[in-house]
Amino acid sequence: MKTDNGKGRSAPKSIMSTLSTSDWENTVPTTQEIEHQKPQLDEQQQNKLIKRIKQLLVEQNAVLVAHYYTDPVLQQLADETGGCVADSLEMARFGKASPADKIIVAGVRFMGETAKILSPEKKVFMPELEATCSLDLGCPAEDFIPFCDDHPDRVVVVYANTSARVKARADWVVTSGIASEVIKHLASEGKKILWAPDRHLGKYIQSITHADMLLWQGSCIVHDEFKADTLLTLKEKHPDARILVHPESPYTVVEMADLVGSTTQLIHAVKSMPDQTFIVATDNRIFYKMQQAAPDKTLIEAPTGGVGATCTMCAHCSWMAMNTLQGILKVLEQNINEVHVEESVRIKAFESTQRLLDFAAATK
Ligand code: SF4
Repeated sequence: MKTDNGKGRSAPKSIMSTLSTSDWENTVPTTQEIEHQKPQLDEQQQNKLIKRIKQLLVEQNAVLVAHYYTDPVLQQLADETGGCVADSLEMARFGKASPADKIIVAGVRFMGETAKILSPEKKVFMPELEATCSLDLGCPAEDFIPFCDDHPDRVVVVYANTSARVKARADWVVTSGIASEVIKHLASEGKKILWAPDRHLGKYIQSITHADMLLWQGSCIVHDEFKADTLLTLKEKHPDARILVHPESPYTVVEMADLVGSTTQLIHAVKSMPDQTFIVATDNRIFYKMQQAAPDKTLIEAPTGGVGATCTMCAHCSWMAMNTLQGILKVLEQNINEVHVEESVRIKAFESTQRLLDFAAATK
């Protein structure tokens, strides 16, 4: 893992040598593999599962919160049962505000942890504890903490897609929707930033804020697959289409965007922009909410491979794909897959997360 200060200068060798390269990348299942392993349900079986889950959610005073990148069946179920479909922080905020005793988080590991960080008095469960995130995996606390210690002059700002231990070391936790506002605010106070883990998001924020940012070099393996050259070809075929890009995408793709935004901002854009057709560079399960918001609009997936290349994720996160109806039912029937966060870590992670919530409330 290398670091870069966002201005093209590499970090000193002494810093780079403290960072390890993980081999988790070789073990990530492809989305096709995950989809293939899922038991296929006919409509009748699916309805039976949904009915049972609805019943257990009520009986156990539990609420289902789902991320925009999960299977539309789960998103619909969350909506129908009084839960929510949102980004990670909103999922956690919703869980905290809910009168439910149990929060079932359909998403990836750091989302379950974030829900627990905000709601220690509640029980938090996940359909699949193995569902994780390349940004989280690519920023292990044992490497990140000494790296921060080596840069005491920098304010540590981490993206929500990190472990509880990494959040606990940070001064701020941010989401993509508000990251640039926070960085602008810190830069206006003359602060230098240490940013982790997404290098593309960091570079994008640095380009619009001109802040002094030292970037951890993690990335999202789903957004990393979007390619500028094939996007250009697609745009030529659809000259009237507007390009919407999530800032975890490579900077060459971000540069082609008509709008760069978080998941929630991209959904709003489809509805509020007057255009009819959109090319969307983010996980394609977001189309469910986009189509709900603007049923008459045409959505096209941004291409995920260069000429002659293949994709691994193919615009859908394999870890998000691990969330299933069967997994939710198992959690409710067997009380398994509870998320735990060590209390000393949780308290510190809560402080850096709460700082963001206070900032968001103050700048509304
Ligand atoms: S889509 Fe990317 S950022 Fe989101 S959970 Fe999957 S790997 Fe992580």
